[in-house]
Amino acid sequence: MIHSALEAQRQIFASGATRDVAGRKARLRRLAEIIRAWDERILGALKEDLGKPRIEAYLSEVHFVLDEIGYTLKRLDRWARPRRVRSNVFNWPARCEIRSEPYGVVLILGPWNYPFQLVMAPLISAVAAGNCVVTKPSEQAPATAALMRELLSECFDPHQVTTFMGGVEIAQGLLEERFDYVFYTGTGAVARKVMSACARHLTPVTLELGGKCPCIVDHRINLGRAVRRIARGKFMNAGQTCVAPDYVCVHESIYEEFVSRMQATVGRFYGPEPGQSPDYGRIVNERHFDRLFELLPERQRREGGHDRAARFIAPTVVRDVGWNDRLMEEEIFGPILPILPYSDLGSVLVEISQRPKPLACYAFSESVAVQERVLESIASGGVCINDTVMHITALNLPFGGVGESGMGRYRGRFGFDTFSHSRSVMRKGFRFDLFNVCPPYGSTLERIKPFLRRRFWP
Ligand code: NAD
Repeated sequence: MIHSALEAQRQIFASGATRDVAGRKARLRRLAEIIRAWDERILGALKEDLGKPRIEAYLSEVHFVLDEIGYTLKRLDRWARPRRVRSNVFNWPARCEIRSEPYGVVLILGPWNYPFQLVMAPLISAVAAGNCVVTKPSEQAPATAALMRELLSECFDPHQVTTFMGGVEIAQGLLEERFDYVFYTGTGAVARKVMSACARHLTPVTLELGGKCPCIVDHRINLGRAVRRIARGKFMNAGQTCVAPDYVCVHESIYEEFVSRMQATVGRFYGPEPGQSPDYGRIVNERHFDRLFELLPERQRREGGHDRAARFIAPTVVRDVGWNDRLMEEEIFGPILPILPYSDLGSVLVEISQRPKPLACYAFSESVAVQERVLESIASGGVCINDTVMHITALNLPFGGVGESGMGRYRGRFGFDTFSHSRSVMRKGFRFDLFNVCPPYGSTLERIKPFLRRRFWP
């Protein structure tokens, strides 16, 4: 079934049906219309899968995707147009251009934490670039996956966009096939399998992965604002956000105040009983609940603030954490926030830079010198200074990881380029033949060497 679906997509692609730019725009417009009309259903599915609060779901999934479509529609004509560039002296007179060509049939494998957005955003770029698309949403967010399948089949010709439902086996079955591009979002462990499957067919890949995103808090800050911005980025979607601050390093001079303000802020956000708050999400499944439960400090485990049947873990602030603590080993990906004190920024930067490169890095400081030091010392996919998570909403910025947090980038123009092959085109005429160096070479080199030296030395 997978094979025949792919064959059908290949035929459609070969027919050129996906290439016309006006057609691509019409399909994206239709996608936006359906998403707008179905927004309550989307919010309902996200509530069912992850207990997502309505506004969180609307902003981070529905609006996020509509914003991507609107941004793309405004610019697609320009992006898709061949770009004229200058030729070089050897070829004079020649016309050179770069054409963005769709790859063909692309595969998008999605994760469960923002199950709608993380399939739709790459899909928008892939369709905008003129590709046929196969999606496989995460089986761990089944309500959203089912709704997406319905939505995509309502919007697209099934031979242009096809959705496969299922888990690991289906994903592996898909990866047996030869795609022209694979876009994967998820864990590093699975990414290695995806990449080796792609290696068999030499298929290019983008890997959007995670990691432990650090957050450094200097003492030169507006503490109230900083705490709110960190708490919001950490506890939205119950901490299951790839760019959530994983842990916070706070200067010792404000450590106590930071911790108590963080606890108070969490209390203000979700009330004395976060389990009753309509504004707090749920852990995706029991497996992840158990993993996170193991990470909770003894006291929190004993005292409650969790409910396995309801997949609920209260927002948990853990103070006085050290670099060798259990919480510092793996990406937490849940509502547990370790707070580490520091006295010397230099040693914090060394500690972080020795660890795998994170997807995002956060620094809070009014000192430009501190901001620059963080920027220069820590490699990461993206950076946001004096806020968390918000950098991913700016469509002029690329989104993607580096090292262990992934490879490749997307969103806006970067997404269009990811799903396009930049094809070099040179056109020449027959009138001139200035640099046609052909055998027998004789003393040609001696004659042209002075010119080459003059011409090509800066
Ligand atoms: P996952 O790797 O378990 O699953 C992602 C997709 O891969 C799913 O569709 C799943 O069915 C498929 N899959 C699972 N095992 C597979 C296998 N053996 N072979 C082929 N496909 C397989 O990831 P997840 O748990 O859904 O996502 C959580 C992780 O993703 C976190 O680490 C998080 O940081 C990261 N993440 C990254 C981004 C980003 O944009 N960089 C966004 C969200 C999540």
